[in-house]
Formats: sequence, structure tokens, C-alpha cells
Amino acid sequence: MSANILDGKAIAAELRAEIKQEVAQLVNQGKTQPGLAVILVGENPASQVYVRNKKNACKEVGFNDVAYDLPASTSQVELLSLIDELNQRVDVHGILVQLPLPDHISAETVIERINPLKDVDGFHPYNVGRLATRMTNLAPCTPHGVMTMLAKTGIPLRGLNAVVVGASNIVGIPMALELLNVRATVTVCHSATKDLAQKVSEADLVVVGVGIPNMVKGEWIKPGAIVIDVGINRLDDGKLCGDVEFDVAKEKASWITPVPGGVGPMTIATLLQNTLQVAKS
Ligand code: NDP
Repeated sequence: MSANILDGKAIAAELRAEIKQEVAQLVNQGKTQPGLAVILVGENPASQVYVRNKKNACKEVGFNDVAYDLPASTSQVELLSLIDELNQRVDVHGILVQLPLPDHISAETVIERINPLKDVDGFHPYNVGRLATRMTNLAPCTPHGVMTMLAKTGIPLRGLNAVVVGASNIVGIPMALELLNVRATVTVCHSATKDLAQKVSEADLVVVGVGIPNMVKGEWIKPGAIVIDVGINRLDDGKLCGDVEFDVAKEKASWITPVPGGVGPMTIATLLQNTLQVAKS
């Protein structure tokens, strides 16, 4: 039996429509229009696409987007002073610095400079700490977007065996914390994990964010499992694919996300939700 498709594109469109309505209400009431500052340093082609998508989403919902496309030669001092300025601006509710940054700039230093209350990516240690201590403020967008999608399945996550493949600061670790917070039993796998196939085959829910095309084989999936593929990989022919062998996995899973059109649009919708939350607070 083929899996149900978790259509992130459609769910994200619903979320954007709700956000657009809320923004219109805020503006009608004479309240502040939510503002998101999006900073891109350099000309990484994938980053340029992500930033363009984020700016378009801002326009669609009626946010004021304040865009900074800075040359790769921008110094760390210059970037930090721009962040200081944006931290002070009352019309800017969210600050997003697109990663990766050029090698001469420390992403950690930059992230820590953003006012945690405007850290709509949810990457600041303050916000990760809040998530880890069950006092979530601004949750990292990709894992939180996954939680929104999972809610759409109607399947209770409490007590499920969840396996997260990938342990990065922006995907795997906050994903594990989100799942732990709803009382799934969470296993986190990474590059040193032994017998990944065995771990995945025991999962009722598997979330994969590694960045290797088709690395999780369809035959590893437990029958009836929920499969969330965060990976976005561009193949030599220009097509996008995920980290999960979709065609085989979909014959075993109960629910599965496609790539593209799965987690990606949810990440951006969650970024908008976070920015709206700050603007309303
Ligand atoms: P990173 O490179 O930062 O992290 C990759 C993780 O995968 C690491 O934890 C690494 O382990 C682990 N890993 C590497 N090889 C293996 C292996 N053989 N077995 C198990 N684990 C392994 O990547 P990101 O987290 O930034 O991104 C992961 C993927 O998700 C990429 O394809 C990216 O494009 C995509 N992505 C998609 C988003 C979306 O909105 N859909 C948003 C963000 C990312 P270790 O920690 O030991 O090094």
C-alpha cells in the first residue's frame, strides 16, 4: 500500500493565508506591520534561492521585508554593526542571517549577536536552551515546521519510537528536542552511528536531515512508519531529491514527505509564524 503524502506545499500555503489575514487585521487596527530583515552575505547560489523564497513569502503575507545583499568581502565587524543597528530598530521584528557565511565570518559570533527576542531562525543558544528546557520562545524553523506537519497526520506522537538521522544544530538536535518534548522516545543518529539500517528499521517515525541523496534506503523503513525527509540535494541533472529513497520508502510508510514540496515550504512558513509572534508580543 502506498503512503499518504504529507503535502508541505499545501500546508504551508494554508499557514501563509492565515498569517496574511492576521497581518491585515493588525494593520487595520493601526498596529505595527511585521518586519523581517533578511541578510545575505556573498553569492552562494543555493542561499540566493532560499533568500529569494523568503522575501517572496514576506511580500505575500504583507510583511515589510528589509533586505541586505552584502558582498562576500563584508567584514565580520561590518556585519555585527548592521545586526546592532537592526537589534535597535522598532520596525524590525525578526533578523535572519542566511547561512553559510563566508569563511572569514564566524556564524556562532553572528548568531549570538542577534537579539534573542528577534532571532526568528531560533538558532541563538538562548532559544535552543528555551526549547531544551520546555520553555519554547522562538523554535528553530525546520524542526518546528516538521512538528506542524506531523500534527496534520492526526497520529499521537507520545510513546512513538522516533529516530532522527543527522545531529546538526539547525535540524537534528532541535528536532530531537521537539520530539522529546511531546514524549516520543528519541534516538539521534550521526556520522559515527553503528548499524543505521537497524536503528531506522525500529522507528515508528524517522526524520532524516543529512545531505546525502537517497542514503536512507526504502527497505529499512518499518511498515506503517512516518517518514520525514528534510534533505535537499541537487543532482547532476539539476533535479532536487531528498535523503530518503522515496520510491521504495513510500510503499512501506504510512505517511511520507516528498522532496521538493515537503519540509522546505514549512521552514519558510514557520519563519513567518515566528516573525508574526515577535511583532504581536
Ligand atoms: P549538516 O551537514 O550540518 O549536518 C549533517 C548531519 O548528518 C550531521 O549531524 C552528520 O553527523 C550527519 N551525517 C553525516 N553523514 C552521516 C551518515 N553517513 N549517517 C548518519 N548521519 C550522518 O547538514 P544540515 O543539518 O544543515 O542539513 C542536512 C540536510 O537538510 C541538507 O540536505 C540540507 O540541505 C537540508 N536542509 C533542509 C532544510 C529544509 O528547509 N528542508 C533546512 C535545513 C537543511 P555528524 O554530526 O557526526 O557530523
